[in-house]
Amino acid sequence: MDKKSGWEVMSEKELSEVEKFAEEYMEFMSENKTEREFVRASMEIAEQWGLSYSVFHGKTLGVFRPQGNPVEEGLRIIATHVDAPRIDLKPQPVLEKENFVLFNTHYYGGIKKYQWLSIPLALHGVVIKKDGTKVEIKMGENEKEPVFTIPDLLPHLSGKQMEKKATEFIEGENLDCIAGSKPAKVKENRFKKFILDLLKKKYGIEEEDLISSELQLVPAWNACEVGLDGSLIGAYGQDDRVCSFTALKAIASMGGGKRTPVVILYDKEEIGSTGNTGATSRIIEDIVIEVLDELGIEPTYKNIRKTLNASVCLSADVNAGVNPLFPEVHDTTNAARLGYGLVLTKYTGHRGKGGTNDAHAELVYEIRRIFNENNVLWQTGELGKVDEGGGGTVARFIAEFGIDTIDSGVPLLAMHSPFEISSKIDVYQAYKGFRAFLES
Ligand code: MN
Ligand code: MN
Repeated sequence: MDKKSGWEVMSEKELSEVEKFAEEYMEFMSENKTEREFVRASMEIAEQWGLSYSVFHGKTLGVFRPQGNPVEEGLRIIATHVDAPRIDLKPQPVLEKENFVLFNTHYYGGIKKYQWLSIPLALHGVVIKKDGTKVEIKMGENEKEPVFTIPDLLPHLSGKQMEKKATEFIEGENLDCIAGSKPAKVKENRFKKFILDLLKKKYGIEEEDLISSELQLVPAWNACEVGLDGSLIGAYGQDDRVCSFTALKAIASMGGGKRTPVVILYDKEEIGSTGNTGATSRIIEDIVIEVLDELGIEPTYKNIRKTLNASVCLSADVNAGVNPLFPEVHDTTNAARLGYGLVLTKYTGHRGKGGTNDAHAELVYEIRRIFNENNVLWQTGELGKVDEGGGGTVARFIAEFGIDTIDSGVPLLAMHSPFEISSKIDVYQAYKGFRAFLES
């Protein structure tokens, strides 16, 4: 298809909306870099707009507004995820090595480890202290605060390192960040002692408290425009906070829809949707029960099943846009392109559609119709050439409940890197497309 980009086909008026929306999005992304932070900020938006919500362990959020047709006619669901690849601290993180203090880490999600070397990192998370109080930590985001970093080797001494495969370039066990280099006035472990004293003084934290913590190292930079023309957005965590933010704005600003709209922001997608905050949990049933409750309908097994079976879900997650440096991994006839709109993806999966929810043709038609009738700029997409690799989303887990599900989202370059790239056009079209879907 010889399609034109959004920059060519959208009106001046709509393009100014695109710019406004991008600004708001970039600000939100700079402020919220963990699932907990994102969920809390989303709860504020839900409250502002009078939406109902239920929150699960502070990391997964369901937002909804009962309205429209009888609930047994189904819900309009958008499912996204708010966790992102990162470097987690281990339960016993504080190490002393060669007169430095290091934080020992275990990475989270599918990362190319070498991309996380020699960049400024901020530390975000929570620590539950001995007395049960929760301390929130956000260090390295303020310009006046120090950051952390995982120092790479100098090229002069990298002869052996450069011979290695990229996966072995740095071992996972060695992916530790620098936490300090000042000694305390004690005989042993003086460097470690200095940092532990500092944690005590600054946050009232003892070393053992770190065992009951969730601390993440994330890129310390803000979201920003990319390119001389500022057409693109560079930010950490756009997979999948770009769909999360746009879906949230869609449900907040939508008019009266025909069915009850629901947006679910899941945790743990990047490690297989596991745990009681991931999409393999029964959270979706809990949300249906709450919707039924609010409507005064008895949440019997039959009513829950009826509602789920009649529902339609957009599994809203990012897709791989054609990267001009590596076009060979795509079938360019079927691949998504940045600036060409919201992506509709019939299937994801690995080699021979392994592990995917392959959406029914009837559902693809239905979503295509909704997008077209609402002037949404959209395109098809797939995750690379047939035998090139692949991936998955929450779609398959949602579909297990009987819900008719299809993937749709924003195309990115450099997905899972510390600096993922999207197009302002696609971010705006995602918002527009999600709203049209929720109103249908
Ligand atoms: Mn994703
Ligand atoms: Mn991902």
